[in-house]
Amino acid sequence: MRWQVDDTPEQAAFRDDLRGWLREALHPGWVEAVDDGDDDRFARIRKEAEAAGWNPFSWARTIGESGYAAPTWPKEYGGLSGEPWTVRLTREELERYRLPTIAINLLGVGLAGPTIIEHGTEEQRTRYLRKILTCEEVWCQLFSEPGSGSDLASLGTRAERDGDEWVVNGQKVWTSAAQFSHFGMLLARTDPDKPKHDGLTYFIVAMSSEGVDIRPLRQITGSAEFNEVYFTDVRIPEENRVGDVGDGWRVARTTLMNERVTLTGVTLDTVAFMGGVRKDAWESFLDSVPDRGDPVARQAIAQFYIEQQVKEITAFRAAAARARGEEPGPEGSIGKVFNAELNQRRSSWQVSNAGMTSVAWERHDKDAESRAHAFLRARANTIEGGTSEILRNQIGERVLGLPREPEPDKGVAWKELRRN
Ligand SMILES: Cc1cc2nc3c(=O)[nH]c(=O)nc-3n(C[C@H](O)[C@H](O)[C@H](O)COP(=O)(O)OP(=O)(O)OC[C@H]3O[C@@H](n4cnc5c(N)ncnc54)[C@H](O)[C@@H]3O)c2cc1C
Repeated sequence: MRWQVDDTPEQAAFRDDLRGWLREALHPGWVEAVDDGDDDRFARIRKEAEAAGWNPFSWARTIGESGYAAPTWPKEYGGLSGEPWTVRLTREELERYRLPTIAINLLGVGLAGPTIIEHGTEEQRTRYLRKILTCEEVWCQLFSEPGSGSDLASLGTRAERDGDEWVVNGQKVWTSAAQFSHFGMLLARTDPDKPKHDGLTYFIVAMSSEGVDIRPLRQITGSAEFNEVYFTDVRIPEENRVGDVGDGWRVARTTLMNERVTLTGVTLDTVAFMGGVRKDAWESFLDSVPDRGDPVARQAIAQFYIEQQVKEITAFRAAAARARGEEPGPEGSIGKVFNAELNQRRSSWQVSNAGMTSVAWERHDKDAESRAHAFLRARANTIEGGTSEILRNQIGERVLGLPREPEPDKGVAWKELRRN
């Protein structure tokens, strides 16, 4: 965060407490090395910490148990019942002390948790929320299907009631982290006679259930982040239903709005994402530009800086609205479109600016490798979590009051719809 709002006395006290906690929770000397601006000492201490077992997973557990992983969540579910600003302050401090600013269990903390808090039963909140925060239970989002991505409400995975259970059959796709997840947020069709938005129900599914078949898909980057997930007669207990039967779309909207806000707040720097920054993200970006004195490069860098500020302020407003208890609004969509396209512009520029080393590089040249990886991974940014076209449609309709898209399937039973 490069812009600063002065702390109120209450905020300053929160920041002090957080720093005090970090001093105790981290390896001795970590906080002091950062405070002294001593990068070499910090590198040494971090190495020592890693040798002693510190890693992003152990850290996830530590912060998950502290309340700081989701400071606005109610205390009884593992948060701090904090005011909206606690999110911003916590993120600033984590960034300052070069710690991961988001959870490894991103979809659990960012999407499943807020959905369960809003629509879940008391038993569900008690059962799932704390383990989401500590990353003991990782979550995935089982929404998209081969014929239903942007038009999500047309999805066809069926859930049929059988006594105290639901029996699920169908296929999901692009399910990030399914291969590592304990639970999934599943949106399934329970009434094909109703119009598409009305016949859906939302469930929690254990990924270890019999009949769940997870098949990783390889991406342009070479990694397999997401999966196809097949359901064959998978049984889900009735107690895992979230919200009413047929009210799944309303519940899913909470997940989707939180997804947009979550992706807006995420730094797209992979080092920060996975393990905490070893260096300030903006400094790392500057380091990746070989000739910063070049007048054309200077223009581009200044422009990226401006856009970065706009992005951060928008993300802050979205986080504040969410934490005030408001349903995430258009800031989520605006921020998501902007963040995705900024990341594509910046990673494209970095690759072209670096010249031939972006095309072929020595095996040991990790900077060139991560630059190319970031460029390729950025292609997904305008698709994942809702495409930029769909989000622009929503902004047009809901914010600007432009004419709505035609809805030829409005009021038509799902089973009568033409689907691809
Ligand atoms: C890296 C990655 C991770 C993902 N992780 C998950 C996950 O964990 N869980 C999950 O459920 N899904 C996940 N997704 C799926 C993602 O939500 C969908 O890919 C996305 O919603 C688009 O759906 P689609 O791929 O079916 O494309 P389509 O909906 O078929 O769209 C194809 C193209 O048509 C455009 N288009 C479609 N409709 C309109 C319209 N009405 N107006 C204007 N343009 C339109 C789209 O913008 C797009 O350019 C992930 C995707 C990616 C890339």
